[in-house]
Amino acid sequence: MRLLIIGAPGSGKGTQADAIAQHYGVPAISTGNMFRAAVASGSPLGEQVKAIMESGALVPDEVTDAVVADRLGQPDAAGGWLLDGYPRNLAQVATLDAYLGAQGQALDAVVLLDVPADLLIDRLLKRAQIEGRADDTEATIRHRMDVYQDSTAPLIQAFQARDLLVRVGGVGEVDEVRERIAAALTARLGR
Ligand code: AMP
Repeated sequence: MRLLIIGAPGSGKGTQADAIAQHYGVPAISTGNMFRAAVASGSPLGEQVKAIMESGALVPDEVTDAVVADRLGQPDAAGGWLLDGYPRNLAQVATLDAYLGAQGQALDAVVLLDVPADLLIDRLLKRAQIEGRADDTEATIRHRMDVYQDSTAPLIQAFQARDLLVRVGGVGEVDEVRERIAAALTARLGR
């Protein structure tokens, strides 16, 4: 099972990614979590991405693509995975396609977690209070929304054109949304 989950900042994709991955018994691989761990550890990668993340911009593709390729090559990812937060622009889609093609693998589905824009900012500001994420300040949130619209939203059409998109409404309680995603994926994939 090789799945992607895409959604705007604040759509709840991290939470849902963990639940879906657990359901299918595959690792949930979050580039955002990997970068945050690198920053927290003070590693060279962390030093490289800290300021970029705090601004709400995307980490350069070469850096991100290398981190993902390395992670997908680890033993626990051999039987499948769910990628959360990658790919985030069309160039990363092309890189992932090439990687999968070289392995003789393909994506099974792309979950789009759909949440109206006006709810997203509210959710992010609440998360800022609860989790204290460095990139959940109002200015950064606004920039991340713009980046999502400009760079990531085009993926929706691209995956729709490839008939991979499974669109799920992301408004509601966490459990409710999780059930919705599970039902939509089961209907699509038959498992
Ligand atoms: P996230 O937790 O997915 O919202 O990611 C937090 C931040 O990590 C983003 O705002 C970016 O700075 C960086 N990041 C995560 N995934 C990617 C990616 N696929 N490409 C570039 N930057 C990323």
